[in-house]
Amino acid sequence: MPTITKSTCCYCGVGCGVLIESQDERITGIKGDPDHPANYGRLCSKGLSLPLTVASDVGRAFYPEMRANRDAPRLRVDWDTAMDTVAQRFTEIVRKHGPDAVAFYVSGQLLTEDYYVFNKLAKGLIATNNIDTNSRLCMSSAVTGYKLAFGADGPPCCYDDLEYAKTVIFAGSNMAYAHPVLFRRLEAAKAKDPSIRWIVIDPRRTDTAAMADLHLAIEPGTDVALFNGMLHHLIWEGLVDQAYIDSNTDGYTALKNLVREYTPRMAADLCGIQEKDLIQAAEWFGFSPAALSLYCMGLNQSSHGTDKNLALINLHLATGQIGRPGAGPFSLTGQPNAMGGREVGGMATMLAAHRDIGNPAHRAEVEELWGSATLSDRPGLPAVDMFDALLDGRIKAVWIVCTNPVHSMPDIGKIRAALNSAEFVVVQEAYTQTDTVPYADVLLPASSWGEKTGTATNSERRISRVRQAINAPGEAKADWWIANQIGRRIQHLLRPELRDLFPFTSPEMVFDEHRRLTVGRDLDIAGLSYSVLETQGPQQWPFPAGESGGQTRRYTDGKFLTPTGRAQFHATQYQPVAEPTNARYPFHLLTGRLRDQWHGMSRSGRVAAAFSHAPEATLTMHPVDAERRGLQAGSLVTITSKRAHVVLPLQVSDEMQSGTVFAAMHWNAQFLNCGGINEVSSSAVDRRSFQPELKHAAVRVEAA
Ligand code: SF4
Repeated sequence: MPTITKSTCCYCGVGCGVLIESQDERITGIKGDPDHPANYGRLCSKGLSLPLTVASDVGRAFYPEMRANRDAPRLRVDWDTAMDTVAQRFTEIVRKHGPDAVAFYVSGQLLTEDYYVFNKLAKGLIATNNIDTNSRLCMSSAVTGYKLAFGADGPPCCYDDLEYAKTVIFAGSNMAYAHPVLFRRLEAAKAKDPSIRWIVIDPRRTDTAAMADLHLAIEPGTDVALFNGMLHHLIWEGLVDQAYIDSNTDGYTALKNLVREYTPRMAADLCGIQEKDLIQAAEWFGFSPAALSLYCMGLNQSSHGTDKNLALINLHLATGQIGRPGAGPFSLTGQPNAMGGREVGGMATMLAAHRDIGNPAHRAEVEELWGSATLSDRPGLPAVDMFDALLDGRIKAVWIVCTNPVHSMPDIGKIRAALNSAEFVVVQEAYTQTDTVPYADVLLPASSWGEKTGTATNSERRISRVRQAINAPGEAKADWWIANQIGRRIQHLLRPELRDLFPFTSPEMVFDEHRRLTVGRDLDIAGLSYSVLETQGPQQWPFPAGESGGQTRRYTDGKFLTPTGRAQFHATQYQPVAEPTNARYPFHLLTGRLRDQWHGMSRSGRVAAAFSHAPEATLTMHPVDAERRGLQAGSLVTITSKRAHVVLPLQVSDEMQSGTVFAAMHWNAQFLNCGGINEVSSSAVDRRSFQPELKHAAVRVEAA
């Protein structure tokens, strides 16, 4: 008889509940969990294909491997040898060069418990803040925006708002592809009430944009100008909520002075759209009884991502569209547990439980709770800076966990050079065919979805259990276990005088320590244990001790977590993209996702059906641009930026505006003779969120 295990989909930030069917150590089927409040039984094509991704042992990492030097092949070793080696090499480098000579690059695909142990290892034991994550590429601008405006990270909204909203803005989000189950909920709501308005802001006519009541096909990177122009119209037409502004916010006068210059005409011209469309969007938003903004990488992956987030939040604060059903600025996380990583502080710019590295009181709290010596007050290096430091020798060793930077980071050539110049590279992975594994001096085999236990937090702050249905193949181990075992060894070598920092014998023990660190914080989950999750199902944070449930919406009383208790407006000027087009590089290159693939395809690329929607990598161009250059659909073209070039087949479509081209981010060296479109992308970053501008580069396109 098959066994049914309740768990959570490992792909995206929707965090759908699943029922895994397994028999004889194989996952044989999957269904949506009808009781899970994220999806109520629905799954998208990616979730439905999950059993196929674990049905084959081909390409899995089974055993630890090591190589004696860079020219030698990696050979199988036992776990003790691999873990002793990692502990010794990290300890030697720390002793010789200091704690900031080592770094950890982890993943929003890790479970909260995995993230927690790695964060404690880096910050609590080694005393470096050099731990960052691929979530830096995903949502760090949203984090910075929330913290600056509301005083704390985390979205104010919940998924039920999808059904309450009467005007929905999709800003830089092809939600039909990227968060499909939530999109189905919106579709159902609109089918029931056709008066609901959808406004899509996207340079490309995506499937989401094609279904909109109003598609604002703005010039790439002009979002701030658009939001400021909309706010100008709302202010001068008397559509703001002055009572809300007066009672609950600071900074309005400076903002009003700034947006005075953003007349709808001026803003529409900057955005390359019609003035009447901008005004229409502003009025649908301003007159709406409940306006919800859903946003994602189009705002975040930008050299001015924080500004874009803040300018959108300004619209909500000025109209009081926040803290009530169907209203609010709702950032959608890309990865399944980017939120959980933020909660445990598993990033270079934060400490556990939303504490700040630069705050001495916060550091002291964590030191006391961990019983560790002094935490470092030196800021850690976020992803792009981390690999730069590896390249120039400031960082000597890196431990990469559950992520593939030789595909997902911008300017991949620089990442290869950085890993080649490192003294010591550890890669902890479930799959052997990623672009990063060849750089591993030590390969640590990790368990994957369906084989591990813990928790994950989805986009609406809801914590769900992830449960093991089958054993991992070969000698693969859970990520938290590997970090815990090597942490013990490093502690023995480096800091034997401290109390045992790695006493964990189960993920539940890790979760219990994590929730103790959240007491009194904005994300307090002291009342939420594994047993509560078992009996009451997935729960939203905060969930303090003594409460019977989590908090659905935040800021419902107009009180915010800033020092003044009031939300903060930020007067944000429009800034152009970091790499403007010119005569040599005349096209805006945009990147994004396909419907059925996931990130670097280590999972979804194993499923034949996932290729039926988009069978090969392509570059999409407007027909007029193709004709002018004499390029035929299906012919090979070379896409060249200042950094590199990539050759792809051409697809011609009027979903693009003239002057922009698009390539999906998934395809990598398994499918192409290069690492994918990020070979050419720009590593310019937002200097507040440190998120790179993966969505935009200036390129030229020629016949190959
Ligand atoms: Fe998985 Fe996201 Fe699809 Fe839900 S919407 S099934 S979480 S990929």
